[in-house]
Amino acid sequence: MKFSPEKLSIPDQRMKPFIDPEEIWNLINNTKPDKQRVRDVIAKSLNKHRLTMEETAVLINSVGTGLADEIKQGARELKEKVYGNRIVLFAPLYVGNRCVNNCQYCGFRVTNTDAIRKTLSDNDIVKEVEALEDNGQKRLILVYGEHPDYSPEYIAHTVKIVYGVKKGHGEIRRVNINAAPLDIEGFRTVGESGIGTYQVFQETYDPEAYKWYHLGGKKRDYGYRLTALDRAQEAGIDDVGIGALFGLYDWRFEVMGLVRHTNHLEACYNVGPHTISFPRIKDALSLNIDGKFETGDEDFKKLIAILRLAVPYTGLILTAREAPDVRREAMQYGVSQIDGGTKLELGSYSDTKNEKQNLNREQFKINDARSLAEVIDELLENDYLPSFCTSCYRMGRTGEHFMEFSVPGFIKRFCTPNAILTLSEYICDYAQGETVEKGWKAIDKNLGKLEPGVAVSTREKIEKIKLGERDLYF
Ligand code: SAM
Ligand code: SF4
Repeated sequence: MKFSPEKLSIPDQRMKPFIDPEEIWNLINNTKPDKQRVRDVIAKSLNKHRLTMEETAVLINSVGTGLADEIKQGARELKEKVYGNRIVLFAPLYVGNRCVNNCQYCGFRVTNTDAIRKTLSDNDIVKEVEALEDNGQKRLILVYGEHPDYSPEYIAHTVKIVYGVKKGHGEIRRVNINAAPLDIEGFRTVGESGIGTYQVFQETYDPEAYKWYHLGGKKRDYGYRLTALDRAQEAGIDDVGIGALFGLYDWRFEVMGLVRHTNHLEACYNVGPHTISFPRIKDALSLNIDGKFETGDEDFKKLIAILRLAVPYTGLILTAREAPDVRREAMQYGVSQIDGGTKLELGSYSDTKNEKQNLNREQFKINDARSLAEVIDELLENDYLPSFCTSCYRMGRTGEHFMEFSVPGFIKRFCTPNAILTLSEYICDYAQGETVEKGWKAIDKNLGKLEPGVAVSTREKIEKIKLGERDLYF
């Protein structure tokens, strides 16, 4: 059911800017929690209730005697409750780095004349996707600069190419997008190509700071970007991803901004964002950031835990911008998706001669260059269940119909079995060496957590996978 303000006689907030910096600063500056209050807020979240802005400020302001540890422990528990031990895997595919904007943190910005500009040809895209499929990838996010060449029609065209590439047992089953905001018509065009999530990061939710960093091009318009995902929703894309680039402004403000954005989407469209991303600024060619708001590792882990508790049902994405040790630790506090085998240079998945990172060709430097195989092996080692599941989106369980968390037992009936089935495929088709044994062991262990009936039908499907059938899901 879409939002209808007339029926409820409340003001229609769709497409309206919803960030009030004064309101956010008031909450940050005037919420002085004691220990008990912090514990009450964590307990509310553990009962799977989303937190208000004020409650989020309670967690942000909780300093001293072990409270940060209690927040992290709460986040760990909640993740286990809501997501179990699954981690969904994906890879980014950069399609083109032409860009008309002048974002001071990005190597693709128009004033960076050292950047080598490239847009993958259709044939390049096919080669890249084949290489990704050869590694076992099933879920991609396509990334584009902002440029007239990357029109909605062009983006839709590239999505269709990706879905059409099948190599051996390989195929991409979900294509997400990270690209510039579009108008409603544009979002409709891209939506009709069958995308999963459309991500637009606000970068910073503070309108003044936003001006400092965005010095040219369409991206200068804070309000147009802030309302991008409203237009996506109006165009029928009910699966959207939000994010902030940490290091541009005070991290506490950005966390509040992300929670406010979530509230806005929920109030207007009955569905919050599917995912939240929290990239930290990494080195890039012609980076022009003074480091004043650099978010240190401790604050970074705390903010992930706070986001987990504040929005229990929203997926949290942690990318290869972060080094393996940071990823390993931060993952426990509620991350549900990570990338593996990531390469940012355009064309580099298929061009294996060129393994070194080269900032002239990349948006920024990544700090986890491990292969997908290595990432999966480590996940198994640490008792996670790697998943390539794409079932919900293909079964139409998206947006307000995305029942994953509201239907009791959903995870045990759908998510865990589907994770097991996609991991079985990965083991049969791509895993090597010790990963094979570790993978089957993990599958056995996780089958043991399922209801007997579900375990039986999952085992039957695994046998079919061993005999060569693919793409079996619940
Ligand atoms: N051009 C589109 C846009 O700006 O929305 C696509 C996004 S860009 C290719 C993907 C994201 O990378 C940006 O939204 C930004 O948050 C992030 N990013 C840019 N420069 C970065 C840097 N130096 N370090 C880490 N992340 C960065
Ligand atoms: Fe262009 Fe996006 Fe980079 Fe800004 S962040 S310069 S819009 S690619």
